[in-house]
Amino acid sequence: MSSSLPSPFDARIAKLSAALHESSVNCLVVSSRENVRYLSGFAGSAGWVLVSDRGMLLATDSRYIERARWDLGESRVSLAANLHTFVASYAAANGFASLGFEGKNLPYADALALQDTVEASAIGCEVRAVDGLVEQLRLVKDAGELSSIQRAAKLADGAILHARAVLRRGMTEGELAWEVERWMREQGSGRMPFDVIVASGPNSALPHAAPGERAISEGEPVVIDLGATFDGYCSDLTRTLFLDHMGPPFDHVYTTVLAAHMAALNDARTGTSASAVDELARTVIREAGLEDCFTHGLGHGVGLEVHERPAVSGRSNETLIDGVVFTIEPGVYLAGQGGVRIEDTVVMRDGKPQSFSRADKTDPIVRVHAGPHGT
Ligand code: ZN
Ligand code: ZN
Repeated sequence: MSSSLPSPFDARIAKLSAALHESSVNCLVVSSRENVRYLSGFAGSAGWVLVSDRGMLLATDSRYIERARWDLGESRVSLAANLHTFVASYAAANGFASLGFEGKNLPYADALALQDTVEASAIGCEVRAVDGLVEQLRLVKDAGELSSIQRAAKLADGAILHARAVLRRGMTEGELAWEVERWMREQGSGRMPFDVIVASGPNSALPHAAPGERAISEGEPVVIDLGATFDGYCSDLTRTLFLDHMGPPFDHVYTTVLAAHMAALNDARTGTSASAVDELARTVIREAGLEDCFTHGLGHGVGLEVHERPAVSGRSNETLIDGVVFTIEPGVYLAGQGGVRIEDTVVMRDGKPQSFSRADKTDPIVRVHAGPHGT
């Protein structure tokens, strides 16, 4: 008998129903893939979840229907050749007076079509954008989510170890990026949450450089920013390595960035505002005279998406409470020379941040190996 959803989806639906009452909508149409997955476990690319005080229903098309029935149980799934028409008849049948959709997710043309179709069939039903309700629930992770993130973080750690083992003089950024991506996929990672970044020498001064044909040489920073996924959940990790030795001025820069990273990791507490945690790291970089070179926020939330709430920056209004997963990733970028960034994925737990990332950050030097690219 599988008419009830397995935990933890029931609890999520119950919380969302309560939030719907507060937002004064009878029904929410959830279209964001991550939100659909969060509420139902359904991981297909086409399907909407409808949540109301009648419970939840997943509407999907013939490509996904069998899988969805298998995952959620017959009574929670409806076949919908056209999602707009399906929602309109559902709203009419239940006499909903108001219906919300995810305005930040649904394309404008889809939102207009949904509005027209619903208002034509469910007379008097008001249709409007209602955003952020599921994202609010996703902010605090449960034990199952934390264990998936931990698995994803472990894959990322392994990829950095692999990078240290294969890095050779003359290897290009693109070759190293592919090495670590392939390694993660072979070890069981799902899709890459973002394109792997390998940026060497002056390229490492660009926080979001794309790996290219540049050959890596000794003494220069090699910023490697990567993540894995496990059961849909992401990790995000950056290490900056140096082949053979750390050329000036990067010895000073590396020490500063590591001290900033450790200040946030050691001194943040549950209940600290995200902007105050940003400031913990920024103060260290300011005192080293490098504040102008730290050009982005300290971090971001991580979960089903690699960038989600909460933002961790000077402009953030969020508070970091137990169960929130976020990154700590200060960086210092010297235009034309290079940059250093050190990033962990952490969870606020028992009052303070605990890192999921285990990859070493105290010894960034990789010895020169003899090998196909070496001498
Ligand atoms: Zn990253
Ligand atoms: Zn990040």
